Amino acid sequence: MKLQGDKERGEQTNKFSFRSRKVTACRFLDHNLTFDIHIQNLKIAGSRALGALINQFRHIATPWYKSYKHLFEAKIIPILTYSSGIWGYKSCPQLESVMNRCLRYFAGAPKKSPLVGLDGLFGWMRVQQHMALEMVRYYNRLVKMNENRLPKHCLLNGTAHYLNYLRRTLHKYLEGDSLLLIENCIKNKTPIDITFIKQQMMKYQETEWKLNLGKFAKLENVHALNTAGMACGKYGPQHFITSNLSVGRKALISQCYLGVLPIEVETGRWAKPPVKRELRICKMCQNGVEDVGHFLFHCKALGTKEQLPSNDVCRLDDLLSKPFSCSMYISDLWQKRTALRNNT
Ligand SMILES: [Zn+2]
Repeated sequence: MKLQGDKERGEQTNKFSFRSRKVTACRFLDHNLTFDIHIQNLKIAGSRALGALINQFRHIATPWYKSYKHLFEAKIIPILTYSSGIWGYKSCPQLESVMNRCLRYFAGAPKKSPLVGLDGLFGWMRVQQHMALEMVRYYNRLVKMNENRLPKHCLLNGTAHYLNYLRRTLHKYLEGDSLLLIENCIKNKTPIDITFIKQQMMKYQETEWKLNLGKFAKLENVHALNTAGMACGKYGPQHFITSNLSVGRKALISQCYLGVLPIEVETGRWAKPPVKRELRICKMCQNGVEDVGHFLFHCKALGTKEQLPSNDVCRLDDLLSKPFSCSMYISDLWQKRTALRNNT
């Protein structure tokens, strides 16, 4: 795979590159010996590849979730995590932003969507975790390498810096017995089970997601669904994301789910000065704050009728679990709302 950096190798004066076989796969280090230039190059290459992938999917009326996920993991992740077996301990927000763009496109979510909510919609492994996995893979390769090989001598038998970085990276995802198990593997220089690490990472990600849900006002509906133990309040992927809906139809459901549908409760946040939540009243029926619950189930101007079950959380869960009827229902309501707002 060719990166932009390959072309520029000979032209850069303030950076130097080296290709010591298997000791390091990283091409560029700046004068402070950091990997920032390399990471910036990966971001550019990854963004370009993602653009090509999105372009292909634009021509498909109902993009397939499995294909999209598979292509993202096969085409984009290898670029973003190129040679991260060496530098995978770093946190790289610029690489995460490429993944956020990928998720936003498929969900039809706008830029202001909370990232925690997007993560919960899909339940995919983040780029940083893929990087940590690359470190584990590289460690396993080193462990199995012949004793005479230079990389093994430098990284495993030499100074302990590399192992310390690996240990520090994995500590974040492990606790209790699993931490002891991995510590023993590193201490005895035996291979680490990658499947086990993947499972621990997913558990960690789900726990973090649950902890962060309550911190975002926009995610009040997801938080309520999760607290009530509803199926649609679980950590992704959600029904409407995996179903064969067009991006346009998915967009309205995603915006309701993520609390970014441009109704009064959302537009009031961006008004100057911001409007207090209790003053973001529905301008069509003047009957309470226009939040997602009001828009979907209680707005008299839109003609929504009281239905069973009467609890809003149960009704929302019931609605979201049937993606096709849900998309039709929200789309009809949205058209009615647009017509009403244009006439007033
Ligand atoms: Zn209303």
